[in-house]
Amino acid sequence: MMKKALICGISGQDGAYLAQLLLNQGYTVCGTSRDAQISPFSNLVYLGIRQQVKLESMALTDFRSVLQVLTKIQPDEIYNLAGQSSVGLSFGQPVETLESIATGTLNLLEAVRFLGKPIKLYNAGSSECFGDTGDTAADETTPFRPRSPYAVAKATAFWEVANYREAYGLFACSGILFNHESPLRPERFVTQKIVAAACRIAQGSKEQLYLGNMQIQRDWGWAPEYVEAMHLMLQQQQPDDYVIATGESSSLEDFVSAAFASVNLDWREHLVIDNSLLRPTDLEVGRGNPAKAENQLGWQAKYKMKDVVQMMVKARLAKS
Ligand code: NDP
Repeated sequence: MMKKALICGISGQDGAYLAQLLLNQGYTVCGTSRDAQISPFSNLVYLGIRQQVKLESMALTDFRSVLQVLTKIQPDEIYNLAGQSSVGLSFGQPVETLESIATGTLNLLEAVRFLGKPIKLYNAGSSECFGDTGDTAADETTPFRPRSPYAVAKATAFWEVANYREAYGLFACSGILFNHESPLRPERFVTQKIVAAACRIAQGSKEQLYLGNMQIQRDWGWAPEYVEAMHLMLQQQQPDDYVIATGESSSLEDFVSAAFASVNLDWREHLVIDNSLLRPTDLEVGRGNPAKAENQLGWQAKYKMKDVVQMMVKARLAKS
């Protein structure tokens, strides 16, 4: 029988790619937005799947709203990708961040428990929970040392999921995903900010690119293949948590250099270091060890940072 998936946060980057993946696999896909009446769902439009998904309004922080939507849709699988997703913004909106992520996840878990149906739940965890990983790549046994309100909220949601799995036997998983990018990333995120600026400068813009700490290192992957891992987690015999990463990290300087080189520019001529962009606390190195996902899910990242940059630049140039 055709499976039904509910994607909370379908308007975002991962929500749109996951919807595409599940539609291709024959799922009926429903998605939620805080206000489905006014959201343009531009990512779904970009992927050409806007008309193939059913859209509902749902406020994750409001239990009544969550229960109503779950009761109406009766999903087999729920993917919780909604919530305030910017680390930078979380310093300015800590309460909104904590409530949308931690209370939101708790409401979903409670609603699934209340309904008493065998609904599987995927929760969008984050590598930010680890804090600085240093030279040792983080795996599922690495302790959490969150260093932002966003990371604290994601760590809370991770333990909520683990607790409901253990206490009530829910089929609930957290994917601890490292950074993943795509043309659907908004410019608020540094990767798209860099790609967009490099492309505009290559097309004649006289602007400068303002960035903070160029030495931070991140493990950057390709969003369309990270959503495959989310789906795989819910197809296993037992629910579990998995680190999803490429296993390689690069500095922000390497990312900038790759983006400018791909449009034949020297980044040094266009960059301004702006100390006002430094965060109150930041992670120097983020690197993940995806061995468990490789062994148990059969999932492996094909695309690394340089491939991701190329694909983002290509998509950006095609749009302009
Ligand atoms: P996006 O920001 O693109 O999408 C998140 C969605 O959540 C939005 O489309 C929005 O939907 C909803 N949302 C935004 N702010 C709030 C809020 N304050 N309260 C409730 N809902 C909100 O995120 P991604 O697709 O990139 O990421 C998906 C999930 O994975 C997020 O939880 C993110 O934190 C997590 N994650 C992402 C990583 C990445 O590198 N992309 C890495 C690790 C984890 P609407 O406006 O329609 O309500």
